[in-house]
Amino acid sequence: MLALRLLNVVAPAYFLCIALVTLVLQLFLFLPRMREDPTAARLFSPALLHGALFLFLSTNALGNYVLVIQNSPDDLDACQGAEARRALCPPPSTHFCRVCARVTLRHDHHCFFTGNCIGSRNMRNFVLFCLYTSLACLYSMVAGVAYISAVLSISFAHPLAFLTLLPTSISQFFSGAVLGSEMFVILMLYLWFAIGLACAGFCCHQLLLILRGQTRHQVRKGVAVRARPWRKNLQEVFGKRWLLGLLVPMFNVGSESCKQREK
Ligand SMILES: [Zn+2]
Repeated sequence: MLALRLLNVVAPAYFLCIALVTLVLQLFLFLPRMREDPTAARLFSPALLHGALFLFLSTNALGNYVLVIQNSPDDLDACQGAEARRALCPPPSTHFCRVCARVTLRHDHHCFFTGNCIGSRNMRNFVLFCLYTSLACLYSMVAGVAYISAVLSISFAHPLAFLTLLPTSISQFFSGAVLGSEMFVILMLYLWFAIGLACAGFCCHQLLLILRGQTRHQVRKGVAVRARPWRKNLQEVFGKRWLLGLLVPMFNVGSESCKQREK
């Protein structure tokens, strides 16, 4: 349990460090490099478009991260003690999280990166957090590849160029041909790629469960799927205007759980 509690502190700190490093690299390396481009004088220069897109992705990733923590699932105070919990909070819709030390409604799983339980109240923000973190990481990787390609004059036209970049740049770093800052960006490329793919996979898995009307906790417990249309299941999490909620994520279009909370 001590290891889990420690992970609950280390994982959010790790996420915030990665977010800070990404922001610094974008602002002080990638954007200034793009402004050196001869087309930068145009109204819609690549630097301006890049800055606006990165701001949109990172604001939504960090905004939903904060909302996941802010909208943590209800703590059922009435369900104190193992016997009372079994009587008042029957599984599988509720679950006692040992890390948070509380009983939560429609529990899905405990997320160590947000240090919080994911349930009915914050599922929408959690899926959007995964989606925008994935997009921000993959976009940072593309911007980083463009930067490395320009400063080291490397062509990424060959599909295997990205895979061979790390071993060749390590040997060049020790021979002095690659600077420390460039080596750091190359290492970050692989980290962004790994986080981007992991978050995309996580987001797709979570969306499939939402469409089936299941939580991860219910899958673990072997609970049968509710016989409901996928559109209804999607509306329960994202609200009736779910498409608008995906396009303008920080604008709360009101999911079913939010409406229930407001009543
Ligand atoms: Zn928890």
